[in-house]
Amino acid sequence: IERQLRQAQKMEAIGRFTGVIAHDFNNFLTAILTNLHLLADQEAEAPPPRLRRALEAAERGAAMIARLLVFARNQALQPELLAVNDLIHGISEFLELSVGPDIRIHLDLDPAVGHTLVDAGQLESALVNLVLNARDALPEGGSITLSTRIQAPDDLGPADPWVCLAVEDTGSGMTPDVMARAADPFFTTKPPGGGTGLGLSMVYGFIGQSGGDVRIASEPGRGTRVSLFLPRRKPVEPLAAAHPAPEPMVPP
Ligand code: ADP
Repeated sequence: IERQLRQAQKMEAIGRFTGVIAHDFNNFLTAILTNLHLLADQEAEAPPPRLRRALEAAERGAAMIARLLVFARNQALQPELLAVNDLIHGISEFLELSVGPDIRIHLDLDPAVGHTLVDAGQLESALVNLVLNARDALPEGGSITLSTRIQAPDDLGPADPWVCLAVEDTGSGMTPDVMARAADPFFTTKPPGGGTGLGLSMVYGFIGQSGGDVRIASEPGRGTRVSLFLPRRKPVEPLAAAHPAPEPMVPP
């Protein structure tokens, strides 16, 4: 409990700090997006692939900033009934572009995993964070596997009501020392400018708030596996699940 309290206090301080940065950064991003849209509008036909990718990346950045602002204001999550594998398919192209040509991303998805009740944007964000961490652990290239399973954390109940989403890399791994601190806010082993040390703490916070659990297994020189466990849900109203909630707007 004491540890959770300390964590909550830290997260609150980070929330305030993040809000200021997200707000200022949003101004730059808006300028980038506006100009990219103007460029795309000048094209007689469909915008060339490079421009389209730049636009997509800037739009994802804007969506991420919107979520950061939500996080900073401590607003409630927007859970929705979500087909887990569909979400992963939806971001796989973006993930491939983000890790570059020297890293292969494998999908190993169990078609039986079904649905969970979760904020889709935040889950996307969490997976992107984990994949970028895996990329950073693979400076010479390699492979990253995203998998889904019907599986419970070892120490929690029967497998049935849990979905496990895992991101596994064959990279540098973590020493027990680094593992122990990896989820602490602002803890990073990356060079200045390389990391904020907020990725894993945000993943833990969000998954915890969603009624789930995170487990990390890592071995120096062999790689790391981060597993996100979320409660499985049966889709009661398939129609409602087909209409995801709209992206929250970025306030001015
Ligand atoms: P950041 O990525 O900005 O450093 P994180 O909270 O995401 O912040 O990660 C904290 C630290 O945990 C990283 O600096 C790194 O040392 C370690 N870490 C996280 N993911 C991995 C991974 N897949 N492989 C090796 N080390 C990792």
